[in-house]
Amino acid sequence: MTSLLPTTTAGSLPKPCWLAQPETLWSPWKLEGQELIAGKRDALRLAVDDQRQAGIDILGDSEQTRQHFVTTFVEHLDGVDFEKRETVRIRNRYDASVPTVVGAVSRPKSVFVDDARFLRAQTDQPIKWTLPGPMTMIDTLYDAHYRSREKLAWEFARILNEEAHELEAAGVDIIQFDEPAFNVFFEEANDWGIATLERAAEGLKAETAVHICYGYGIKANTDWKKTLGAEWRQYEQTFPRLQKSTIDIISLECQNSRVPMDLIELVRGKKVMVGAIDVAIDMIETPEQVADTLRNALRFVHPDKLYPATNCGMAPLSREVARGKLKALGAGAEIIRRELAA
Ligand code: ZN
Repeated sequence: MTSLLPTTTAGSLPKPCWLAQPETLWSPWKLEGQELIAGKRDALRLAVDDQRQAGIDILGDSEQTRQHFVTTFVEHLDGVDFEKRETVRIRNRYDASVPTVVGAVSRPKSVFVDDARFLRAQTDQPIKWTLPGPMTMIDTLYDAHYRSREKLAWEFARILNEEAHELEAAGVDIIQFDEPAFNVFFEEANDWGIATLERAAEGLKAETAVHICYGYGIKANTDWKKTLGAEWRQYEQTFPRLQKSTIDIISLECQNSRVPMDLIELVRGKKVMVGAIDVAIDMIETPEQVADTLRNALRFVHPDKLYPATNCGMAPLSREVARGKLKALGAGAEIIRRELAA
């Protein structure tokens, strides 16, 4: 990484209104067939341009080619029946109708590798690709085959590892696994969740990241956050084990969250993606607000290990708001870079 404090997003950006219904999760595509394939690619190029204009250093695909960060990956696997649906409680928070695991899971062919190659062709800047983590995947499915969360997680870890190696070969610099489930199922995370995550990242030369958040700014999540009290200490449960893990980068949410900043101390030595943009509100941060959060984080992480980022994905926001937030992130990081250089 050439610059100090390389900025990046946690993952998604809103899609253009001609591709999918704005400000909605699991929004259906508005195009079909060849037009959809071309439309997704055009949206990816626009998302790259938005990031570049905002001065973002590590670029992503902004999930323009996926409907959802978990289900789109699962749709490409054998052993999961999307017609057979059951209602389950996702991350202990809200009910959703989800597909069923009906047999041994496998990945007949790569899922995102063509898209990653396309992203690679758009830029010489470092690129990051996001994949769902094993534990978050099992939490979004009904398992009628393995009947064991742990067993299914190990199977997904193996599949994710195959995909990750192909992404690396396609030129991806950082592979990020999204594990919001780590903020809910602490015991399982420590028992086998982090181990399956390490299995998913096994043997990679690309850097690896884990993104652990409090979710998109949707009602189920904001309601849940209201129940968490004055201090959010969830990270305290998994950070000690993650500090000892093989994962290079830890992504957490800080902006407007009640996470005590000193919890970052628990992953000392790791690179830290500090969420300095709140994705649950439309108000656009000022660069100064971003800089304040980064300045605070610098008390617990060395400057050469700090990656300014967003708290979570921005898919449910309007494009204008998301663009404004990206610019604030780029400008806020620049303030701190100048301070550090002075
Ligand atoms: Zn997130």
